Amino acid sequence: MISVVVGIISAVKSKALEVLNRVFGYQEFRPPQGEVIDCLLNGQDVLVLMPTGGGKSLCYQIPALVMPGVAVVVSPLIALMQDQVNALKGLGIRASFINSTLSTDEYFAVKAALMSGQLDLLYVAPERLVQPATLNLLSQIPISLFAIDEAHCVSQWGHNFRVDYLQLNILRQRFPQVPRIALTATADETTRQEIVRQLDLNNEAVFVSGFDRPNIQYVITEKNKPRQQLLNFIKRNYPNSAGIIYCLSRKKVDSTAAWLASKGFLALPYHAGMDSELRKQTQDRFLNEEKVIVVATIAFGMGIDKPDVRFVAHLDLPKSIESYYQETGRAGRDGNPSTAWMAYGIQDVVLLRQLIEKSNGNEQIRHVERFKLDSMLGFCEITSCRRQALLNYFGEEAPESCGNCDACINPADTWNGTEWVRKALSCIYRTEQKFGVNHLVDVLLGRDTDKIKKFSHQQVSTYGIGIDLDESQWRSIFRQITARGYVDVNEHGALFLTEKCRDVLKGEEQIHLRRDVVEKLTSKPTVKQVELEDRDLWMALKACRKRLSELHSVPSFVVFHDSTLLDMIEIQPRNMQEFSRLSGVGQTKLEKYGAEFIEVIARQLKKEALAADFSE
Ligand code: ADP
Ligand code: ZN
Repeated sequence: MISVVVGIISAVKSKALEVLNRVFGYQEFRPPQGEVIDCLLNGQDVLVLMPTGGGKSLCYQIPALVMPGVAVVVSPLIALMQDQVNALKGLGIRASFINSTLSTDEYFAVKAALMSGQLDLLYVAPERLVQPATLNLLSQIPISLFAIDEAHCVSQWGHNFRVDYLQLNILRQRFPQVPRIALTATADETTRQEIVRQLDLNNEAVFVSGFDRPNIQYVITEKNKPRQQLLNFIKRNYPNSAGIIYCLSRKKVDSTAAWLASKGFLALPYHAGMDSELRKQTQDRFLNEEKVIVVATIAFGMGIDKPDVRFVAHLDLPKSIESYYQETGRAGRDGNPSTAWMAYGIQDVVLLRQLIEKSNGNEQIRHVERFKLDSMLGFCEITSCRRQALLNYFGEEAPESCGNCDACINPADTWNGTEWVRKALSCIYRTEQKFGVNHLVDVLLGRDTDKIKKFSHQQVSTYGIGIDLDESQWRSIFRQITARGYVDVNEHGALFLTEKCRDVLKGEEQIHLRRDVVEKLTSKPTVKQVELEDRDLWMALKACRKRLSELHSVPSFVVFHDSTLLDMIEIQPRNMQEFSRLSGVGQTKLEKYGAEFIEVIARQLKKEALAADFSE
C-alpha cells in the first residue's frame, strides 16, 4: 500500500518537473521551489518567504497545472491582474481573474469557464473572494489550492495592511481540505507569526530563503542638490534604462518628473491623486516600452514584475528598512546588475520624525514607528557594509564586506567631531530648543537673516561660532546627531536635546562622525556585456522581439527576457529543437516565436559570413 502511494507521489513530482520544462522552458527548480511544491502536492499548508525575483509564482503555478481543479490566487494587486493573466496565457496556461474591473458579461464568462472546468488558475481580489457569492461559486467546483500572495498585507504593523486580508481565515473554515500557500518577500519574525495566525494556516511548512539580492548595488549619498545628483547618477549609469524614483509627496513627484522630462528622459509621474485611467496608462507604458522612468509615491510598484528595472532611486527617506528593502527590491528581478540609490539629508530626518509626532495614532503604534525609523536612520549612517546591515536586520548572517555597496567600494572616513557637536548642541540650547535646522545653521554661521534679527539671536553666545565649517558640513552634523538620537524633533520641526547628549556636553563622551564622501562609484555593465562583434545580432534580436511584442500586444519581456536573447547569441540555434533548449523557451513560446527568431539568427549569420568573405 505504502509503496503504491510513494509511486503515485513520485509520478506527480516528475510531472511537476515536466511542466517546468515544457511550459516554462526552465531546466530545474530553484531552491526551495521543489520542496514547496512537494508540500502542496501532499496537501500541506505552506508559508514561503523569498526575496523579490526569487521565483515565488512558480511555487503555486506549477501545482496549479499538475493538480486537478482550479488554483485560486488571492492578490491585492487588481491593476496587475490583467497583465499577469496575459503573461500566463502567453505561456499557453488557462488563466483568468475576478475583480471589480470586470463587466457583468465578463464575470459570467469567467463563471461559465470555471463551472465547465476550463481554468487552471484564477486570480481574485481579496474583497471579492470573501463575498458569499464568490465563496458559493468556489464551493461548487474542485479547487486545487489557494495561494495568498503579498501575505504580509494581513499584518497591521506592516506597511501594506489590507483589512480584507483579515477575513481570509474563512478559507480554512469553508475549504478545510484545500492546501494553502502564503507568499511574501518581506517579513520579520513577528509578521511571519502574524501571517500564520491570521490566515489560520495548519501544520504549515515554512520556507525562508535568503534575503540577499547580490545583483543590487546599494548606494546612499548625502543630499546636497538632490535633483542634480539624481541626474548625474542616471546619466552616468543608466541613461537608457527603466527605473523607478520614489518621492514622498505628490507635488514633488510631479515636479521631478517634469524636470527629468525637460532633460530629455522619458519620465512619467504616478501617484494616488491622478485619475485611475491615467495611472493605468502610465503603468502600461512602464511595462510595455523600454527606458520609461516612473517617478512615484509609494503607491507604485507593488507586485509589478517587470524584470529589467535597472535602478530604484529614493529622493526621500523610506519610513522603515522593510519599506526600503521592498521598494529597492523592484530593481533587477532578472538578476542583472542594478542599483538602489538614495539621497538623504537632515530634512528627511526632521520631516519623518515630525510626521510621527504629529500622527494621531495611538502611542503604541508611534513607538513602533519610532523604532523602525531609528533602524532606518542607523542603516543610512553606518560606515560598514550596507548589505551586511540589511541582512542582519532580517536576522540573516552575512559576510563583513560585500564589495557591491557604497561602503565597500568607497569607504567613508570617520573623524572626531566632538567639539563641533558640542557647538551644535549648545546652539540648540541657547536658542531655547525652539528652532529648526535652517535657523540653527544660520546662527552658527553668524548670518544676518530677518529671523535672527527678530529673535535677537546675534546676542546668543553661539552666534557665529561655526564659521570654520560650511553649511553642508553643519547640516551633515545635525543629521548625524539627530539620526543617532542625541537630538530629537518635535511636531513643529524644532530640534531639542535628549538625555543622551548629557555626557557629550559634560565632555565625557567623544563622538566620531562620518565624513560624507562625494559619490564616485564605478558602474557595472547593465546587461551581461554583449561582445562587440555580437552587437548586430543583439540589435536584430531586439528588433524581432519588439515586432512580435507589438504583433501580440504584450510587453517585450513577455516575449522573451534579455537573458533568453543572450542565450540565443551564445548558442545560435539553427532549428526548433536547438531553440527549445534555450532557458525561458517553453512549448507555447517555441511554437509562437521560434521560427522567426531562428530566421533572424540565420540571416544575421549569413550577412556576417558574406562580410567576412569580402574582407578576405
Ligand atoms: P517573485 O514573485 O518571487 O518576485 P517571480 O516568480 O516573478 O519572482 O520570478 C522571477 C523571475 O525568475 C521570473 O522571470 C521567472 O520566470 C524566473 N524563474 C523563476 N523560477 C525559475 C527557475 N526555476 N529557473 C529559471 N528561472 C526562473
Ligand atoms: Zn558592502
